[in-house]
Amino acid sequence: AKSSPAQSEFYQAIEEVLECLRPLFERAPHYHQHSIIERIVEPERQVMFRVSWVDDAGRVQVNKGYRVQFNSALGPYKGGLRFHPSVTSGTIKFLGFEQIFKNALTGLPIGGGKGGSDFDPKGKSDNEIMRFCQSFMTELYRHIGPHCDVPAGDIGVGAREIGYLFGQYKRITGRYEGVLTGKGLNWGGSLGRKEATGYGAVYFAQNMLTAREEELRGKTCLVSGAGNVAIYTIEKLYELGAKPVTCSDSTGTIHDPSGIDLGLLKQLKEVQRASLESYLHDHPEAHFISVRDYPQDGHAVWRIAGDAAFPCATQNELTEADAKMLLANGVCCVSEGANMPSTKEAVDLFLEAKIAYGPGKAANAGGVATSQLEMAQNSSMEQWPLEKVDQKLKQIMADIHRQCADTAEEFGEPGNLVLGANIAGFRKVADAMIEQGVT
Ligand code: NDP
Repeated sequence: AKSSPAQSEFYQAIEEVLECLRPLFERAPHYHQHSIIERIVEPERQVMFRVSWVDDAGRVQVNKGYRVQFNSALGPYKGGLRFHPSVTSGTIKFLGFEQIFKNALTGLPIGGGKGGSDFDPKGKSDNEIMRFCQSFMTELYRHIGPHCDVPAGDIGVGAREIGYLFGQYKRITGRYEGVLTGKGLNWGGSLGRKEATGYGAVYFAQNMLTAREEELRGKTCLVSGAGNVAIYTIEKLYELGAKPVTCSDSTGTIHDPSGIDLGLLKQLKEVQRASLESYLHDHPEAHFISVRDYPQDGHAVWRIAGDAAFPCATQNELTEADAKMLLANGVCCVSEGANMPSTKEAVDLFLEAKIAYGPGKAANAGGVATSQLEMAQNSSMEQWPLEKVDQKLKQIMADIHRQCADTAEEFGEPGNLVLGANIAGFRKVADAMIEQGVT
């Protein structure tokens, strides 16, 4: 029952998966007998907690903290932490639910989880971020561990936050262990982790295009977002000879027809944490479209002409009207770096048009896959060279694509990677749940 509007994103995610599973259940009714659906939509455990911290003015601030441990059939819970004022328990549930299938698709031993807070890191000093992270971990530490639940970053949680969270975990428990991923490179992090989600989304696009005897080289690409995923999507697009011409943040969209200045973007976002509008100081010839001037029914970035689209900011950032415009402009490939960035109506249009469409749970799985490689390095006390990590990432993305494509074919819908991803991911988790008995 869709009784709670606060859970609308969670229901949206469930609906997509369940619709795709219909043909599987017709062939394999035993999943019904084991009540897999009823079990898989219910998190194994959820914690909600108060995070109190003291701001620079000496005032006590209070935020909500969450961790959803959704499914551990395939391994320890794994999934990021999101710090953003829009976060609710419904947001974390939707992300945790998606994570189960994504993690299954990687072929690695990781279950699904997610967490976060409605804390807004914008405008906070480093000290405030540190005090918040310490307070957050003071509750979270009792629920996580290298063999039970290993959080990572997501929106608003990057290397700085992971550092403060790790420091507090170590201080409380007295243990130096692989309890978080996305760590600094000289204290347990993996080379290539920062780049992995963006690079992976581009590798996935390349796999989709190769299967259609097309290529990325020479394509004009639209990217949304200006954070971790967007930046490394842009970097890999350049490496493969494509031309990314847009990026966006919560203040607006940059359109630079000569190609996004990647060095400047990194400087603005990774160093200065500035708004994208300042891109114009160095490139007055580029265009900035403020969110105030966005079309009412969508997002300015998708109204710009391009050949391929990479939504890398947040959920439901690509609407039905946006999808119509992309298709009218001849987009042939959409690879999702973000989680559930396209609305259900937009996805239906992409599938109907039979373009190369890679849903987030497949296309952005490179991030979590590389996080698992970080766990493997931590537990064996090794640090692998970048080439080894990148090689593995490339192979994992190719395997995910093949699984999705083969499964779509098996169920009579060649090219429908949404169906392929959902059935392939679900089957692995469901089979493991059955073999492990009623839990
Ligand atoms: P970051 O915080 O690094 O960047 C997020 C970017 O998206 C920022 O540019 C931010 O703008 C923009 N943004 C976020 N929320 C909104 C919003 N509500 N409206 C407009 N713009 C918004 O996060 P990531 O790059 O890590 O994550 C981006 C997406 O990728 C998310 O959907 C995340 O779940 C997904 N993802 C991330 C993975 C990872 O490894 N990091 C792995 C798999 C998926 P501003 O700068 O103004 O805040």
